[in-house]
Amino acid sequence: MGYPFPKRARARLGGVVSTRPRRFVSLALPLLIFLASANMFGATARAPPLALFAGRAPRLLGLSLYSSHRHLRKSLPCALWSSSFSFCVARIPRSTSVPFAGCSSSAPLPPMATAEVASAPLPAASDDGLPDNPLLQSFAFPPFDAVHAKHVVPGIRELLRRLEGDLVELESKVEPSWPGLVELLERIVDRLQVAWGVINHLKSVKDSAELRAAIEEVQPEKVKFQLRLGQSKPIYNAFKAIQESPNFSALSDACKRIVEAQIKEAVLNGVALEDGKREQFNEIEQELEKLSQKFSENVLDATKKFEKLITDKKEIEGLPPTALGLAAQTAVSKGHENATAENGPWVITLDAPCFLPVMQHAKNRSLREEVYRAYVTRASSGDLDNTVIINQILKLRLEKAKLLGYSNYAEVSMEMKMASVEKAEELLEKLRDASWDPAVQDMEDLKTFALEKGAEEANDLNHWDITFWSERLREAKYDINEEELRPFFSLPRVMDGLFTLAKTLFEVDIVPVDGLAPVWNEDVRFYCVKDLSGNPVAYFYFDPYSRPSEKRGGAWMDEVFARSRVLAGGGAPVRLPIAHMVCNQTPPVGDKPSLMTFREVETIFHEFGHALQHMLTRQDEGLVAGIRGIEWDAVELPSQFMENWCYQRDTLMSIAKHYETGEPLPEEVYQKLLAAKTFRAGSLSLRQIRFATMDLELHSKYVPGGSETIYDVDQRVSERTQVIPPLLEDRFLCSFSHIFAGGYAAGYYSYKWAEVLSADAFSAFEDAGLDNDKAIKETGRKFRETILALGGGKPPLEVFVEFRGREPSPEALLRHNGLLPVAA
Ligand SMILES: [Zn+2]
Repeated sequence: MGYPFPKRARARLGGVVSTRPRRFVSLALPLLIFLASANMFGATARAPPLALFAGRAPRLLGLSLYSSHRHLRKSLPCALWSSSFSFCVARIPRSTSVPFAGCSSSAPLPPMATAEVASAPLPAASDDGLPDNPLLQSFAFPPFDAVHAKHVVPGIRELLRRLEGDLVELESKVEPSWPGLVELLERIVDRLQVAWGVINHLKSVKDSAELRAAIEEVQPEKVKFQLRLGQSKPIYNAFKAIQESPNFSALSDACKRIVEAQIKEAVLNGVALEDGKREQFNEIEQELEKLSQKFSENVLDATKKFEKLITDKKEIEGLPPTALGLAAQTAVSKGHENATAENGPWVITLDAPCFLPVMQHAKNRSLREEVYRAYVTRASSGDLDNTVIINQILKLRLEKAKLLGYSNYAEVSMEMKMASVEKAEELLEKLRDASWDPAVQDMEDLKTFALEKGAEEANDLNHWDITFWSERLREAKYDINEEELRPFFSLPRVMDGLFTLAKTLFEVDIVPVDGLAPVWNEDVRFYCVKDLSGNPVAYFYFDPYSRPSEKRGGAWMDEVFARSRVLAGGGAPVRLPIAHMVCNQTPPVGDKPSLMTFREVETIFHEFGHALQHMLTRQDEGLVAGIRGIEWDAVELPSQFMENWCYQRDTLMSIAKHYETGEPLPEEVYQKLLAAKTFRAGSLSLRQIRFATMDLELHSKYVPGGSETIYDVDQRVSERTQVIPPLLEDRFLCSFSHIFAGGYAAGYYSYKWAEVLSADAFSAFEDAGLDNDKAIKETGRKFRETILALGGGKPPLEVFVEFRGREPSPEALLRHNGLLPVAA
């Protein structure tokens, strides 16, 4: 049940995105956003191909039967982190399985269930040690300590062989019923997902050359199987038959959603087209794949092509030591062996970790201008020109949409999303309208500030001045030193605070059960989530510390098992969900606990929000349990929702105590944290709106080969969304990888969409009264019973309305961002 767009991919993002230089990011949201867009400009494109679809072959596995290779493509940054962050759900599977008759959505929470993983009996012993291969065993908890690189190739090959057998059998006997179709399918899909999930997870947290090589070797075979599964006509026909049967209307919401999603996805993948048209469809898909690939390569090559050697220290005055170190290191790699951070020479590149500090800190205005111009014109000329590729992509996407019976590509994209084109446009316009005046004011403030500082350019601020002066203004206004805050945020206290909050809001106890399940590193903690009667409802692993030699950067959450009735074992009514949360914090030093930045605190809250949705689901149909099956423009709701609590006084003050003295966080610092949250919010909002609007315009109204060029569209859109119009030669579209090489085509609006949902959900607690314990508990229970419980078993808008009592409104987001005309 995949979505036509890389949901799971996001996960990747988690890592990829967060590898973006977190250390350059202080509390300045603006900067965060800039990073996001910078990311869009190219940082993401640097994601190693493996990260792209490596493990998580996107939704396929997940249950998306009909996804095909095109969906397996890269994933850019976390779909929705805009004002928030970059961390994300590791993968967002969709899936479900539903019994025709017994498809019910919620059941009493069972005692601990055993996960049944092996579906087929083991074959007679063979000579390659297969029977001992941990990937082929049944397990209650994955044998993370026992799986090694040597198990990957034989284990996955054998598993695929068995699953192919299961699939052939399913196709030959398929019946349009739950037991005759969906349950069998869930078993196939889940089995591969769990096994692949284990090795892919190990690659992320315990990487080695052997493991990577082994995974690369079997990956094509796995992808092939997924494609085959996704294009199975017998399975598609059986789903159609269920939908058309008189019993369909008696199915639960979740079951109907599963059937409908499977069919829709199949249709969007061309499975339902007549033969001739299907061929044409497949050709378009292949061509699109190639074009996207070429697009990324051009961005990468163009980014690499620029380098500027600097030998005079005066020219790079202002750059912080980390950036100088990086520039010197680059110089060394380019043959200037004696380069040092202190004395140079330095090489400036367009890679985000180098480009951003230059824009923020270089006092040399002409350097900033040169680098900026190079940046926004990447891949727009010569051999690396993406203009033609963009036009070709847009033309083919339009053709594909028409083949499928839609009038434009945006409509295709929206089929599997919560929004519609009109709703997304309407939201963007509302936000634009609210952001415009504050953004104009931001520019005035910047000008005034630059004037005060005696800057020559004060009356003529250009694109390459804005980031620089924003940074100076931010420093002057908020001056929060992240490092100095660390002692107030010790990991044990933060986790205690988080668990206490979960107990208050969602009535669960979280208790350590280290030793119950095998782990991959001794620092990994294992927890059980219990309801108030003491019954386990879920488990999760938490891997907190950075291990640069074997663990990728960033923070993410992913599922290990989804809750599932079909896969229950040991006589239990369901298999309990298991999640893992991975962060990259500073390890404890000596007897000091791990001390966190405020941003790291927000990250943990964010990931825990994803984990809660996965773990507190009451959905028993595996294909739509937890985070599975949720539309991608809605999946960041619980995560961003949880971030809000980091700013709530009681929650923050309960965790922010000096680890040695117990002294609370000074009030003045708390106030600065709050204030920094809205710094330049109007400008940042407009920036995202420009990208989102461009994306929708190009995929809904633009006519390839018509009278307007893509750059005309950009200038037109920018008039309404940018206080300073872009340079006429601005070609950011040529490096807009999100939409031309990632999964965000007609989906970039999701960043804003999810922010609206999460802010509005939090405002239900504000309305109830954040000081009113009883009201908070009641609202928390409602949140748990709707947003956290229903999984992908109900359309997200219905789920939201069930929680909030009305449709989402952007008012709360605007208020939180300080963008309402008269501040409340
Ligand atoms: Zn996320």
